[in-house]
Amino acid sequence: MKIIHIIMMVLFLSIMTGCSTPLALEDLVEATVYFPESDENLIAVDTLTREDGLDDVFIHLVDQPVKAQSIKPDLIYLLDLDTLRGIMQFDLSFDLTNKEARAQNINGTYVIPFEWVDMYLEKLPILNHFSYLMPSTPRLVINDTTIDYAYNQDWKLHPTDNVTYDIKDQTTHHETYYTETDAIDISIEFNRRTPNQLLLAIDNGKEETTYTLDNMHNLPVPDQSGHYTYTLMAVWDDASLGYTGKINYIFGLDLHLEESLHLNKTTFEPGDSIGVLIEQPFGLDYRIETPVFKNTIGIFNYEDALVALVPIDSRTTPGTYSLSLYEASTNTLIETTQYQIVEKIFETQQLSVSASTASLRSDENAKKDAEKFKNAKTYSVGEKLWDGPFVQPVEGRISTEYSVIRYVNSGTESSRHTAIDIAAPQGTPIKAAHNGIVTFSSDLIISGNVVVLDHGLGLFTTYVHMHKIYVEDGQEVKKGDIIGEVGTTGYSTGPHLHFAVSKSGVNLNPWKFMAEDPLVFPTWNKTP
Ligand SMILES: [Zn+2]
Repeated sequence: MKIIHIIMMVLFLSIMTGCSTPLALEDLVEATVYFPESDENLIAVDTLTREDGLDDVFIHLVDQPVKAQSIKPDLIYLLDLDTLRGIMQFDLSFDLTNKEARAQNINGTYVIPFEWVDMYLEKLPILNHFSYLMPSTPRLVINDTTIDYAYNQDWKLHPTDNVTYDIKDQTTHHETYYTETDAIDISIEFNRRTPNQLLLAIDNGKEETTYTLDNMHNLPVPDQSGHYTYTLMAVWDDASLGYTGKINYIFGLDLHLEESLHLNKTTFEPGDSIGVLIEQPFGLDYRIETPVFKNTIGIFNYEDALVALVPIDSRTTPGTYSLSLYEASTNTLIETTQYQIVEKIFETQQLSVSASTASLRSDENAKKDAEKFKNAKTYSVGEKLWDGPFVQPVEGRISTEYSVIRYVNSGTESSRHTAIDIAAPQGTPIKAAHNGIVTFSSDLIISGNVVVLDHGLGLFTTYVHMHKIYVEDGQEVKKGDIIGEVGTTGYSTGPHLHFAVSKSGVNLNPWKFMAEDPLVFPTWNKTP
């Protein structure tokens, strides 16, 4: 009833504008378009106008646009107009080229404007009809494998001068990444309609690099392992061919090139540290193992590579050692390299301290200090804050060298000196050995006033027995900044700076860090 009502209203409006009609529309009740061999309605026709210029005839056919996709240009459908005087029947045909539908019977031919075609006709019949104007489907090949790609297209068909079909289409973006480890040859082939312009954007999630391609073979491939999204932008801009368009073809490439292992050098001393670099890393799924350090070795992003710093305890036995790189999740050995640890003789020192000073070093005080100090070296930033050699924090006589084996008051108790002691007058300024963040700045019973600097990647420097502290926790310092003054606070026999460098709980030889940055790799051909 609703349909009839709308039709009658339209007819009423037509009559009011003074139309006449050979269709006797004033008594039209309903119009139905259907496929010749089916009872189902095919399409709703909004307006029927006469071809002969008498545009005063309107028939609104309102219905659900069911099965619109069934429209085929080479078929003739039937249009029934149900009128009060009986059913009038028309042959209905579709001219997709001119975007028209025609209703024809012995009384004449009526043209249905195709505004509703764009609305109701789905793309399929148009695409099928104009397949000769549609882009070709390219073949994308990586190392002889044809790959899947997502696409989005903005295509215009111009089958005649005054008709344009806009076809915007896209596939759901899929995350298919092709993992390649070998030489990469990527090419794209168009079997026809080679684009006038082909651009390529390669995105690694951080930055996008774009190329204008003059060749569809050997597409650019990054020289670093990584997770890349390729977007190929093809442009056809010659309208005289009956079409113009832009289509993006999108696919992913996981480039997993062979990793290589670099050490900063091949010969080390006890108290040294081993700089390790993993070139061409793919993700972070790595583990480094070497017998000189049994605990987990932290691995950090550094430029396009990964680095680690392996501490060598001063008690390590000289010899030849191996260092192995594993893929952590699969426990697969990737590469093993070897290095030497040569012998280093550390001095011994007899130390006399007074009973009152010695009493400070009781177990109870050590426990209190440990409680206060426990978080000083717990957290380290995952970024290398230093660059280049460290500076000596204070100039002066070296009263005790690194790793000197100490005998206190001629007793049997011996220990390794974990730092270098630099004797200097009280009040002498102390420089930060390198850029860092203050993680501790307080007084301890045994060590006196202490500052700890985090230099990143788990590397710390510690300044002990200070007279005054100028910095506070969390403060950023630059190499050479004055962080306090030399003193003799805590368990100390005179004004000096006890200066320690440590990594992962191992006290290292500070002179090594003042001589060179262990994370500099002469064998690494860093790409600029
Ligand atoms: Zn000392």
